[in-house]
Amino acid sequence: MRAVVFHGPGDLRQEELPVPTPARGEVVLRIEAALTCGTDVKTLRRGHPVMIPRVPTVFGHEFAGTVSAVGAGVRGVHEGDRAVAANSAPCGACPLCLAGRPNLCEDLLFVNGAYGEFIALPPRLVSANLVRIGAATPAARAAFAEPLACALGGIERARLEDGQTVVIFGHGPLGCLLAMAAASRKARVILVGKAGWRLDRVRALGIGECVDATATPDVVAALRSATGGRGADVSVDATGRPEVWQQAVAAVGRGGSVLFFGGCAPGTSISLDTRRTHYEELTLLGAFHHTPALIRRAVESLETNGAFDPRGLLTHRMDLAGVREALELMANGKAMKVLIEP
Ligand SMILES: [Zn+2]
Ligand SMILES: [Zn+2]
Repeated sequence: MRAVVFHGPGDLRQEELPVPTPARGEVVLRIEAALTCGTDVKTLRRGHPVMIPRVPTVFGHEFAGTVSAVGAGVRGVHEGDRAVAANSAPCGACPLCLAGRPNLCEDLLFVNGAYGEFIALPPRLVSANLVRIGAATPAARAAFAEPLACALGGIERARLEDGQTVVIFGHGPLGCLLAMAAASRKARVILVGKAGWRLDRVRALGIGECVDATATPDVVAALRSATGGRGADVSVDATGRPEVWQQAVAAVGRGGSVLFFGGCAPGTSISLDTRRTHYEELTLLGAFHHTPALIRRAVESLETNGAFDPRGLLTHRMDLAGVREALELMANGKAMKVLIEP
């Protein structure tokens, strides 16, 4: 089979590999749709010790397809089933898994290999995070399950309620998925981005009100005035930049919650207004990754009659030979998400 293999930072090769045969407990999926992700761009640049502990490995982690072979001992999954799998599976036995926070599992197993014709899913992923989809659900839509699960988890953590106002900093794919998740809770959504074709596209998708951070000298003041001077009920950083984390804190109102969704570079920190944090009872929340329950909820929302169709975030469509170009387009801000069809 053809596959795009990651050998280390900057080293991505198109290779011919044997089609995997499933060992006991494994399932092999023929990939119909894979999606590029900002994490791929970061990983290609500097590696990723957590998501990719060993190289070489087939690259990519958002995918959906059809089961082509089932290993011995697998129950409830059959050849021909259409399915989506997450990019990780928790152990189910460590203290954090037992405490109901499997996204923080001490032994999270990461799986890569979306940019190939087939992928073998290890037993733990098969039992924890392989979800069947209906025959009518397009694979390109189902492949959003992983990033959407992260977004749903973030919005849930912020306890966003009907009628509240949420400000989301960052108009990349995850900012948009967070906005869609917030809108599905009937919140007023304000997305903060920077002028350009992507912000125009987000505006055209009608996901929320858009604020151009480059059009005002003081974006926090602009957000305060857009919220009657009070600030947002919930503010979210989806940029992973410390200066924007600080804007997210500054933009939230009394009693509000700040969700730090975007991961910043190692070693960075922010300063915090202690007075506001205390007297205004601000809630500061980190959000990381997803859980099997969130993956299932994401798949339900993405099924044909579900609430979500994020395919408007796909700006290009390519085959495996286009992966490198797709990731370059992403790195240069020329693509939002690229659909890869092996
Ligand atoms: Zn991703
Ligand atoms: Zn665990």
